[in-house]
Amino acid sequence: MNRFFLSPAASRGLALLREAGHEAWVVGGCVRDMLLGQIPKDYDITTSARPEETKAVFTGYRIIETGLRHGTVTVILDGEPLEITTYRVDGDYSDARHPDGVTFTRSLREDAARRDFTMNAMAYAPGEGLQDFFGGQADILDARIRAVGDPVRRFQEDALRILRGLRFASVLGFSLEEATEAAARQEAGRLGQISAERVSAELGKLLTGRDAGRILRAYPDILGQILPELLPMVGFNQRNVHHCYDLLTHTAEAVNHVPPELHLRLAMLLHDVGKPLCFSIGEDGQGHFYGHARESARLAGEILRRLRFPNQLREKVETLVRYHDAVLEEDPRILRRWLNRLGEETFFDLILIQRGDTATLAPAYRGRAAHFERLEALAREILAEEPCLQVKDLAVNGRDLMALGLEGREIGNALRFLLDQVLEGKLPNERTCLLENLPESCRGTPPDDRGKNGA
Ligand code: ATP
Ligand code: MG
Repeated sequence: MNRFFLSPAASRGLALLREAGHEAWVVGGCVRDMLLGQIPKDYDITTSARPEETKAVFTGYRIIETGLRHGTVTVILDGEPLEITTYRVDGDYSDARHPDGVTFTRSLREDAARRDFTMNAMAYAPGEGLQDFFGGQADILDARIRAVGDPVRRFQEDALRILRGLRFASVLGFSLEEATEAAARQEAGRLGQISAERVSAELGKLLTGRDAGRILRAYPDILGQILPELLPMVGFNQRNVHHCYDLLTHTAEAVNHVPPELHLRLAMLLHDVGKPLCFSIGEDGQGHFYGHARESARLAGEILRRLRFPNQLREKVETLVRYHDAVLEEDPRILRRWLNRLGEETFFDLILIQRGDTATLAPAYRGRAAHFERLEALAREILAEEPCLQVKDLAVNGRDLMALGLEGREIGNALRFLLDQVLEGKLPNERTCLLENLPESCRGTPPDDRGKNGA
């Protein structure tokens, strides 16, 4: 059975380049994915054609010249963007970030040699088969990540490769080959020179990988270079009967207990990050962490800002961290308030976070699954009633209150008062009833009566 399936665009791109007399291969991530039995999400092409020659081959097609300096031409074929890059050798990396310059080459092998890992350094073309110069296929079979060439030098050239290595290990469930791992630890200090955007993209993929917990446990020294806040958590004994793990192990386990969505994984990673700063020992000899949720949320905000994660994501994570240890009682009145405060989506996310957190507490505390199931069922019941959870859900609006003579801030205050009554279950969300129950303090002067007493 042929393991290689090319998209129509990739297939046509290769054919057109080859018909024009150039060498052309699909390369890198897509070849790796196909050998893993996965469908590639995109195809990259590497070719002996110089960028000008590539452009000539695709005359009449839409061409985007974004990466021309590095030899990359993007061609739109059948609506699919295809990145076509000239065989190249990277120059020196004086800033451990970008190659100072690239040199084109006529050799596929040299192009493969500049790539990061053996599994990412293979090329394929129909009729030609697989080109595997560095044993990438064998490494995939052994679930091993191995740098191409001397790992120390490769990580010195571009330290992001260290993080990419951990990312692939997490996503694929692979291990770092010994020399690659040693070099990664040795050169990890260089990660500080990498831009926040590149770091956060890789960190995000690492965290949503199936083995994120294992990587967090195995490489806190490396990840601590970009998240120094993790370092005090390593081996941190919580001195508390609720906890059977040190703080980092607990955190790593908890990360694997939430679904692989970035905001959930980040919230789990950071939920206790403020604990070392809040540690005290009580008279009972137990460790306590008063205010740690708030402190962790503050630090989470700081970290996510520093790594330039999008604001919306950061805010979501901060909220989840801040309330991760809130007591959610199985009481409809209280749950209505939480739904009002957090919104439906974040409320259910918070339950996932609390599940993840408690799944890794001391064994005696793991029987809380039933509690969370009841909470979820209760919340769904509340939501099924089309409840009034926000001011906008009230059966009255600002216009109704204006008609009663309320003005400016009075209107907001009155609406909040009514929402409060409805959330508490003291008033039904019915228009007449709400209007009749406005407290005196919220009642303005009806417009008709204005001016009668000189008001
Ligand atoms: P993904 O599936 O996440 O896209 P990928 O391996 O395709 O993974 P890309 O960033 O798309 O990652 O890079 C495409 C290819 O370019 C890689 O497979 C690898 O051969 C090479 N590459 C990417 N980044 C580096 C790097 N920092 N150093 C060396 N080679 C790299
Ligand atoms: Mg890719």
